[in-house]
Amino acid sequence: MFPQFITYLLEYIKYQEKIIFALLGIILGKSVAKAQFDEPVHKPYRKMEVDDMPIIETLEKLDYKELLSNYQLKHGKELKPVVRRKNSVVQVPTNLTCPKCSAPSSYLYANNGDKGQYQCKVCGCLFNQKNRFLKEAVFKCPHCQKTLEKIKERKDFYVFKCKNNDCSFYQRKINQMSKDEKERFKKDPQAFKVRYIFREFNFDFKPLSKETPEKPKVDLSRIYVSPHTLGLILTYHVNYGLSARKTAALMYDVHQVKISHQTILNYMNSVALITKPFVDNYPYQLSNSFCGDETYIRVKGRWHYLFFFFDAVKKIILSYPVSPNRDTLSAIKALDQVFQKLKVIPEDLMFVVDGNPIYILAQHYFAQHGIHFDIHKVIGLTNDDPVSTEYRPLKQIIERLNRSFKGNYRATTGFGSQEGSVSFVTLFVAYFNFLRPHTSLENKVPVIIPELEKMPNMPERWTKLIDLSQQFLVEQQSA
Ligand SMILES: [Zn+2]
Ligand SMILES: [Zn+2]
Repeated sequence: MFPQFITYLLEYIKYQEKIIFALLGIILGKSVAKAQFDEPVHKPYRKMEVDDMPIIETLEKLDYKELLSNYQLKHGKELKPVVRRKNSVVQVPTNLTCPKCSAPSSYLYANNGDKGQYQCKVCGCLFNQKNRFLKEAVFKCPHCQKTLEKIKERKDFYVFKCKNNDCSFYQRKINQMSKDEKERFKKDPQAFKVRYIFREFNFDFKPLSKETPEKPKVDLSRIYVSPHTLGLILTYHVNYGLSARKTAALMYDVHQVKISHQTILNYMNSVALITKPFVDNYPYQLSNSFCGDETYIRVKGRWHYLFFFFDAVKKIILSYPVSPNRDTLSAIKALDQVFQKLKVIPEDLMFVVDGNPIYILAQHYFAQHGIHFDIHKVIGLTNDDPVSTEYRPLKQIIERLNRSFKGNYRATTGFGSQEGSVSFVTLFVAYFNFLRPHTSLENKVPVIIPELEKMPNMPERWTKLIDLSQQFLVEQQSA
C-alpha cells in the first residue's frame, strides 16, 4: 500500500510540474517550457475498427478508338469532338482523359459549370476530378457477396455499408451481444457497429505516378568552402549528429574555418536538394519485406510525423515523407514511395507496421488500384498476440532505426520550415543508405557503391556522393 501511495504522489507531482511549465511557457514564452519537455506527449492514434477488404469488381474498360469506329459503321459518319464556345468560362484540362474509355479531352464535356464534373461524349461516362481514378469499381460485401450501399459522403471518402439482414457478419454481431446489450441496441441501434462497413477513399492521388526528377534550383558554386570542408561539415552534422552551432564551433576550434551556423544550415539545404533525386531514384536491390513506423519531429513549433518505410532485410530507407497529420493519405503516400522503387510488385509483398488503422485503410485503397500486399501489425511490445511475437524482430529493427534517427535529430532544435525538416531527413537517409556501416550487415553499408568505397575517409565520401548526385541529374536532363 505504502509504495503504491508514493508512486501515486510522484505521478501527481510530475503532473503538477507539467502544468507549471505549461503556465511558465505562456507567461515567459515557449522557449523555457520547451527545453524541459522536448519529447511529444504520447499521442495515441484513433482506434477504429476496420473490417476486411470488400470484394472489388472492376468494370470492363472500353477503348474509345473501337467505340468511334463502331459509331462510324452504325451511323455512316464520324463522331465529332465536342464543339466549345469561344467565350466558354469552363476549361477542360487538355491532359484529362475519360476514365472508362480513355477518350482524350477533346471528347469531354464540362458537365456542370465549374464544379469539375465531366461527361464523355464517346461512352457517356460521368466523372469528376476527384473520383476519376476509381470510377471503375463495384464493391461487394466479403461476407455475403451483396453489393454495398453508399451511405455517407465525407470530404475524403465515401462510406459503404452492407444492409443485408442475412449477412453472416451482421448475424454474428447480433448473436454475440449479451442480453443487456441487446436491450440497449433496441433503444439506440446507432451506438453499435453491427454491419459491415467499407471506406472508399477518393484522394486526388494516383498511385505509382512517378514524376521525373527535376533539376533543383541550387547553385553549388555559391558554397564558399572547399569540397573537403563541406565534407567535414556534413560528417559532423549528419553522421555524428552535432547541431549546426556545435559544428560551426568545432570547425573554428579544430580546423580554423570561420563559418556561421546559419551558413551551415543553408549549405545543408543545398546539398539535400542535390542529393534527394539520387537517393529517391537509385536502383536499389530490394527484398520483399518492409517495415514502417512514424516518429515525431518539430516543425515551426508543432509536432509533425515522419513516416519511415524501410527494407527490413537490406536496411535501406525507401520512404520518409514528413506530414503534419498522421492520417490515411500520409500512409498512402509513404507506401507509394516504396512501390515506386520496386521494379515489379512481388506477389508476397509484406509490410510490418504498428496497430494504427491508417495502414489497413491504405491497404484497401491500394487494392482498389490493383496493388495487393499483406499487412502485419505489431502492437506494443507487451502484446501476446502471435502476430506480434513473430514479427517483433522486424519491429525492433525499425525501432532501432528510429532511435538512431532521434540520436541525430536531438541536436537540432526542431525546424523553422517544412523544407528544413525535409533537408535534414534527406541527408540522414543519404547517410543511412550509402555511408553508415551496419553491424547486422557485417559492418557494410546497406548500398555499396564502389566509387564511394574507394574513398579514404568520410568527408571524401560525402564529396563523392554529391558528385554522383550531380552526375545523376545531368544524365536525367540529357535522357
Ligand atoms: Zn468515355
Ligand atoms: Zn454482407
